[in-house]
Amino acid sequence: MERKFYKEVLESLTDGVYFTNLDRKVTYWNKAAERLSGYSATEVVGKSCADNVLRHVDENGIELCIEGCPLAATMEDGEIRETNVFMHHKFGHRVPVFVRASPMRDENGQIVGAVEVFTDNSKNLDMLREMEELRKEVLTDQLTKVGNRRYASIIMERLEDSLQKEDVSFGVLFVDLDHFKNVNDTWGHHVGDLVLQMAAKTLKAALRPLDVVCRWGGEEFVILIPNIESEGLAVLAERVRMLVENSWVDHEGERISVTASFGGAVAEQGEVAESVVDRADKQVYLSKESGRNCIHIGGVKV
Ligand code: GH3
Ligand code: MG
Ligand code: MG
Repeated sequence: MERKFYKEVLESLTDGVYFTNLDRKVTYWNKAAERLSGYSATEVVGKSCADNVLRHVDENGIELCIEGCPLAATMEDGEIRETNVFMHHKFGHRVPVFVRASPMRDENGQIVGAVEVFTDNSKNLDMLREMEELRKEVLTDQLTKVGNRRYASIIMERLEDSLQKEDVSFGVLFVDLDHFKNVNDTWGHHVGDLVLQMAAKTLKAALRPLDVVCRWGGEEFVILIPNIESEGLAVLAERVRMLVENSWVDHEGERISVTASFGGAVAEQGEVAESVVDRADKQVYLSKESGRNCIHIGGVKV
């Protein structure tokens, strides 16, 4: 009865558990061990754990079955051992696990085998988080914290995709800060950086959640807007223009402001995103020519 109870407990654990006898033959293999390793109990029980089954390696690639099996050492000296290893999965890949080997003793205290508990290594989860952070870092402009050019390309590809497959159009707004060189020349590069950060924040704040602002390079930004027509783009551009004009950086008691020139374009059927960005960029020149701090969309001043 008691035995059955313990077996049920072992079977319901999320950690893998197995027992070995003194010959290192597996005598018990729980459900979680099956799940984590891919091997069923019938495939493993009765085999030596070195029999082409687990073949733990440590992070240096040392096969622990050959050199330094923690179970063998524990059966030898009765000490509990904990270590991080890479377990072999039936499909062939390696699973990082934290293992804990403890001795099993009979009623006289004599060691009769060992139990190993192995847990999905949480380090693995950290790694995923790290990967996610790294991905973000790779796609973020470090100065302004908006997307970088690489991120813009990813979004452009997506927009192009939904235009082609679902006929959802998109707009592009190109933003070039006016006389930005003067800001640097007057206040220094550091203040120029603060102004760029301020402008990026202002652009971001002016947009809806699905719109994406990226730093295209230098003092140029691109705003990618899904599902918009020219009229909507004009309204959005005017809002952004006005907000940039009305923002500033406080520096030694002075308010430093910039304006920006805007160029907009809406994707036509079958048009690739790069061409839309290119058209928007060309509109910026018209805005520069007509005095800056204004907007041109499709050749028309708005
Ligand atoms: P325009 O109105 O015709 O666009 O004039 P502009 O001065 O903005 O244009 P120009 O292309 O001549 O100069 C852009 C300046 O932006 C030059 C460059 O030093 C500055 N710049 C580019 N990247 C950065 C940056 O990361 N930080 C700072 N502080 N300045 C930058
Ligand atoms: Mg420029
Ligand atoms: Mg400029």
